[in-house]
Amino acid sequence: MVPDIALVKNKQQLQLPNINSATPSPGSIISTSSPESLSSSSPSCPGRSESASSFPSSPENFSSHNSNTHHHNSNDYSSNHHIQRPPRPYINYHRLSTNKLPVCLVKSQLLDRIQKNETLIIIGETGSGKTTQIPQFLYEHLISSKFYQPSTLSNRNRSSKETIAITQPRRVAAVSVAQRVAKELQCQIGDLVGYKIRFDDCTSHNTRIKYMTDGMLLREAISDPLLSNYRVIILDEAHERTVQSDLLFGIVKQAQRLRSGQKRPLDEDSGSSNDHRYHEPLKIIIMSATMDVDNFSRYFNQAPVIYIEGRVHPIEIFYTESKQTDYVAACLTTLFQIHQEEDELTVMDEQTRKNNDFIRIGGDVLVFCTGQEEIENMIKIVQNYSAQTNTMKTSRGTFKTLKAYPLYSALPKIKQQRIFDRNPNDCFRRVIFATNIAETSITIPNIRYVIDTGKFKSKFFLPKTGFEIMRVENISKAQACQRSGRAGRLAPGKCYRLYTRPEYRSFTSFPVPEIQKCSISTVLLQLIALGVSNVQAFDFIDSPSAENIESSLKKLMKMKAIEKVNDSDVDYKLTKLGQTMVMFPIDPRYALLLIKAQKFRCTEEIITIIAMLSVDNVFDTSMTDENAIAIHRKFASSEGDLIKLLNVFRRYREAQQKMTWCQENYLRAYQLKQAEEIRQQLVDLCKQAYIDLVSTPSTENVRKCLAIASGVGVGLGANIAELQRDGDYRTITFGQNDRPSMNVFIHPSSCLFSQKPECIMFVELVQTNKSYMRNLCLIDRKWLIE
Ligand code: ADP
Ligand code: MG
Repeated sequence: MVPDIALVKNKQQLQLPNINSATPSPGSIISTSSPESLSSSSPSCPGRSESASSFPSSPENFSSHNSNTHHHNSNDYSSNHHIQRPPRPYINYHRLSTNKLPVCLVKSQLLDRIQKNETLIIIGETGSGKTTQIPQFLYEHLISSKFYQPSTLSNRNRSSKETIAITQPRRVAAVSVAQRVAKELQCQIGDLVGYKIRFDDCTSHNTRIKYMTDGMLLREAISDPLLSNYRVIILDEAHERTVQSDLLFGIVKQAQRLRSGQKRPLDEDSGSSNDHRYHEPLKIIIMSATMDVDNFSRYFNQAPVIYIEGRVHPIEIFYTESKQTDYVAACLTTLFQIHQEEDELTVMDEQTRKNNDFIRIGGDVLVFCTGQEEIENMIKIVQNYSAQTNTMKTSRGTFKTLKAYPLYSALPKIKQQRIFDRNPNDCFRRVIFATNIAETSITIPNIRYVIDTGKFKSKFFLPKTGFEIMRVENISKAQACQRSGRAGRLAPGKCYRLYTRPEYRSFTSFPVPEIQKCSISTVLLQLIALGVSNVQAFDFIDSPSAENIESSLKKLMKMKAIEKVNDSDVDYKLTKLGQTMVMFPIDPRYALLLIKAQKFRCTEEIITIIAMLSVDNVFDTSMTDENAIAIHRKFASSEGDLIKLLNVFRRYREAQQKMTWCQENYLRAYQLKQAEEIRQQLVDLCKQAYIDLVSTPSTENVRKCLAIASGVGVGLGANIAELQRDGDYRTITFGQNDRPSMNVFIHPSSCLFSQKPECIMFVELVQTNKSYMRNLCLIDRKWLIE
C-alpha cells in the first residue's frame, strides 16, 4: 500500500504566544511558590503555569541559546538540499558536555532548595536535564557531605546508606538513562551508576546512583519499610501514575515520616550501638515535565514546587486540519511526507562521495503506536514501500533511504540498544515505531520528528464483569507533551500530532491513574505484604473506591491469601499461603497457580507456561512467509495455545544449536532465552519456598490444573468460555455468580481458531471491535464441577 501523501493537508502551526520579551533564559528557576498560586494550567503542558510555559516555542526565541549548544542551527538544515556542499558534521550524538542544560545553569539554587526542604517537587521542560543531571548533583553533594552530619555515622554505614534512588515507570527508561549517566561519569554500568529492573539487577555495593523501576523499589520496601539504603529518593515521571508508582508515593511518604521521628544519637561514641537503627531523614524529590502539581503538593505535605524554565532546543507542533478517521493511514502518510519534504536527503557529489563514501540523511522519525502488532504491520508497509521507491543509486550500490525499527518493551535488549546507538555515518533515515514505552525519560539520538497518533493501549478492569481488557484510548495532554518532548532533545524538532487542536483540547489533562482502572486485588495483597494492615486507611494519593477495595479484599480472603487480624474488621495480614505468594515477583494469582500445581504433579510445566507468558510473543510473525506459518503449525496442539507454548519450550531445550534452531523455526531466540532465565529464577524461588518441583508426562493434568485454578478465580486467567448453540462463545464464571457473562470470540492467532471446542479457558481478552480471547487452553467442563 502506498499511502496518499495528500491526506494530511496544510499542517497548521500552533499559534504561539508572543513570549519574546517574557522568555526567561534557559535554566532560570522562574518560580518557587506555594501550590495555591499555581492552579492555572497551561493548555500545552498541563501542570505548568501559563507564564512559566514557553512550550512549544518558536525557534527564534532560542536562536541565541542555540549557539551555545552543540547542535546546528535549524536553518542550516532546511536551506540546503543540494549536492555541492561539503559534508558537515551532523548532530553530535554523544554530547557529554552537559553544562548548558537548563538544570545545570541553576545547579546551586537547586541544591540549596533541596537542602532546605525534605520534600520538593521539580517541574522542568522535557530535555532540561532532570533525569540525568539532578541525581549527579546530589551525588556530588552527598560525597562532599553537604547533607550529612558526619559525626553521627561510621563511614561504613554512611556509604551504604547514601544511595540515591531514581524511580522510572518503565524498564527501558531505567536502563537507557543509567547507561547514559554512567557514560557521563565515565564509569562502568553497575559500578557507581547502576539500574535494577525485574529479573535484571545491574548494581553492586559501589552503586550510589541507582535507576530502578517503581516496582523494584516497592519490593525492597517489603523487607525494609524504612528504605534505609536510600538517602534520597527521586520519583521521576510522577505524572504517569502507574499502580506501582501510586503505591510507592504512599510507602515513601510513610518511610520519610518514620525516619523523621527517629532520634539522632547524641555523639558517635554513645550512639554507636544504635547506629544501625538510626537513619538520616529521607529526602523525597518528585519530578516531571507535566504533572498535577496541586494534587502532588497537597499529598506531600504542601511540598514546595520549583519550576525550571528553559528548553535547549525548540519544538514546533503541528496539528491536522481535519479529524483523521484512520490513524494508521494518516501516520504512514505523514511519515512519507516528512521523508520527502522535510529536512535533507543529500546525495553527495562525486568528489565528496570519493572522500566519504556515504550519503547523509537528515533527522530520524519517532512514531508512537499502540502495540506490538500494529508496529510490526506498519514496519512491513514501510519496508514494502521503501523497497519499491525509496532507494538511492550511488557508486557503492543502491541504498534504502528509509529504514524502520520497532521499539516495544518485549523487544530483545540488544535490539533496543541498536536504537540508542545510532551510527552517525548511517546513510539512511531511521523511523522508529514505538509504543508509549518511548514516551518518557529516554533520549533517542538523532530523532528530530515525532509523529503522535494520539492513541495508546491500556488495560481496563470492568468491575461489572470482573474482566481485564486491553483497549485503545486517547492519550492525555501530559502524554502528548511528553511525546513531542522526544523530538528536540539534541537539536530542534518537530512534532506532528495526528489530531486536530479541538481534539487535543478534549483530551484529559493527565492520564487516569491506573489504580482507578485496574483490578486492585494484586495491589492490596502487595500493600498488606508491605505491612499496611488496614488498607482502607492507606494514604493513597487518589484512593480506589471503597466498594472496589472491599470486593478485592473478599477475593483475597477467598484465595486464602489474607486473613483478619484478631477478628478485627479492618486489619488484615498475609496467611502462610499469602506469604509464599508474594515471594514471587509475578501476579499473585500466577503464584497461587504454581503452588496449586503441586497437587496435579505438574509444577515444572506450569512454571514453563508462566515463564513463556512473561515474555512477549516467541513466534516471529514479522515474515509474511508461508513457510513460517507452516513451521509454527508444527508446534500447534489441539489442546490449545498454552500447550503449544509448552511444546515450543521443550523443543527449544532439546535443541543443540539454539540460535540456528530458532532461526529455522521462525522463533525469537531472545524471547526464548529470556523465558529460560525467568524459568530458572522461578525454579530457584520454588526451592526457597519448599514447593515441590514435579513433572507429569500428561498434558491433561496440566490442563486440569489450569482449569481448576481458573474456576476458583486464580491462575493465568479466571476466565472460562463455553460454546453456545448458535456457535458463539459466552464466558461462564464458576462460583462467581456476581459476574454476568459476555460474548467473546477466539482470536485468529489461536491454534484453536478453526476448531470449535466446547469449553476453553483463556489468559487474556483483547478488545477491538469485538472481545477476543487469547492464549487458550482446551478444558473439560466436568473438571470444574469435581
Ligand atoms: P529531562 O529528564 O529533563 O527530560 P534528561 O536529563 O533526560 O532530561 O536529558 C537532558 C538532555 O541530555 C537531553 O535533552 C539530551 O540533550 C541529553 N541526553 C540525555 N540522554 C542522552 C543520550 N542517551 N544521548 C545523548 N544525549 C543525551
Ligand atoms: Mg526525564
